[in-house]
Amino acid sequence: MDLRFPSGCDIAQHDFADILETIHAEVQLRFGEGRPADYISALATVPLDGFGMALVLRDGQVFEVGQSRRPFTIQSISKVHTLTLALDAVGDDLWERVDREPSGDSFNSLIQLEYEKGIPRNPFMNAGALVVADVVLSNCGDARGRLLEFMRSRSGNADVACDEEVARSEAATGHRNLALAHFIKSYGNLHNPVEDVLDFYYLQCSLSMDCVDLARSVQYLAGNGHCSVSGRDVVSGELATRINALMMTAGTYDAAGDFAFYVGLPAKSGVGGGIVAVVPHVLSLCVWYPGLDDKGNSLLGRYALHRFSRMTGLSVF
Ligand code: GLU
Repeated sequence: MDLRFPSGCDIAQHDFADILETIHAEVQLRFGEGRPADYISALATVPLDGFGMALVLRDGQVFEVGQSRRPFTIQSISKVHTLTLALDAVGDDLWERVDREPSGDSFNSLIQLEYEKGIPRNPFMNAGALVVADVVLSNCGDARGRLLEFMRSRSGNADVACDEEVARSEAATGHRNLALAHFIKSYGNLHNPVEDVLDFYYLQCSLSMDCVDLARSVQYLAGNGHCSVSGRDVVSGELATRINALMMTAGTYDAAGDFAFYVGLPAKSGVGGGIVAVVPHVLSLCVWYPGLDDKGNSLLGRYALHRFSRMTGLSVF
């Protein structure tokens, strides 16, 4: 297998085990920084003393460090997977209902929805993810089963399941998501009942996975659409490229510019503290640290990705 980065960088030159150990040593000095996602009560008390990181090469080889096998709820990282299911089901018709522009606003913002007539800016802010969830519900039969099957086969972990306590907690405090869903529905851009869309959305956010699972789960985006974990072609190479482009421009909310600047890799974060990132054609990775910055991205996760891209030179720029 050709493991060369398109820029000509030969990944065999990198000692990934050593690089991950170095990053691990550095982040431990900063444990305690950031704040957990305290608007979800089940996440409010997570201690800020754990960090995990895993990367998966295209041939399936895994490098990992810290608490890389500790499960956490994947939250908005799931938006990558539901977007994949929705695009697989309805293709470019999705773009009639969701735009592809960065928002510059927070992940749960309502602001643009009114003057853009219920069309969310992108599939990765909560508003866009609710429309994507609606498309999956309408077009994927048993949507819950389909999503679980997708996650289990992409990650190679047959035990991936929903953390019911977190799902209940999200539903109990999800006033903004309820408002977003009703607002979008008022423009006719949700076809299923609001309650069904939110139930599915909270299921996807509350899936419990670890860094290795998650790095594997986006391996198809590093593999030109091919997932070596399951041996399947998940999407076309062109679609993988497009999803990576959306992750680069909108995957980390209103910090996407900073991510491009400091990390230079397509990435998707979740308020559970996880961030997945992709080095196209080379590898996928996941970091976890539950303390968030003011944009809702894992503070040390972002630092770790920054250090990784600097130490390896693996940036798309
Ligand atoms: N379940 C979270 C919410 O709806 C997801 C947000 C995120 O991970 O960014 O608020």
